[in-house]
Amino acid sequence: MPKIIAVSKTFEEKDIIPLVEYGHDHFGENKVQEAFRKWSKIRALKKDFNLHLIGNLQSNKVKTAVSIFDYIHSLDSLKLAEKIAKEQNLQKKKLKLFIQVNIGNEPQKSGINESELSDLIIFCKDLNLDIIGLMCIPPNDQNSIKYFKKMNELNNKFNLTELSMGMSSDYLNAIKNSATYVRIGTNIFGQRN
Ligand SMILES: *Cc1c(COP(=O)(O)O)cnc(C)c1O
Repeated sequence: MPKIIAVSKTFEEKDIIPLVEYGHDHFGENKVQEAFRKWSKIRALKKDFNLHLIGNLQSNKVKTAVSIFDYIHSLDSLKLAEKIAKEQNLQKKKLKLFIQVNIGNEPQKSGINESELSDLIIFCKDLNLDIIGLMCIPPNDQNSIKYFKKMNELNNKFNLTELSMGMSSDYLNAIKNSATYVRIGTNIFGQRN
């Protein structure tokens, strides 16, 4: 069974807390500052859930990110890997990490290109980072199945067990291609402004 990350970006604590109290155990945010503001308060109430960073991570936010998140899905460069490793040592924490792959080779999108993936994985293992799988946000071109297939092949090739892909509109196809974490916002919380 894939795990469902309830993506609560833009929603406030009052919308999120009922789901936390119900016992849902995976939540996702895409901005570090917003997550810090909301989830520091929620953690004061309850602690037994996992918080995922699913959006871009700038290196000047790594310190805060390591302090509040349990998973990061957006590791996509050697520089970021080094920074995370350093910050984890300082904070004596070890997060679970996904490497984000720019699976459609889109110039405007973050994520590492497939051709550089192998080097990044080796680099992360040398840093003793806990890389659990790959993550993607496929191109918005109605061909997500093709990209999900590709991601599943890459995950197998590198012997990774977890695969983060699929959102409200395409999660069923992601699951058919072995996604283990789907990231669902709109279908859980409603439309964002
Ligand atoms: C917002 C977001 C989601 C959730 O999108 P929905 O279409 O609302 O389900 C999933 N993944 C990432 C990276 C996001 O930024």
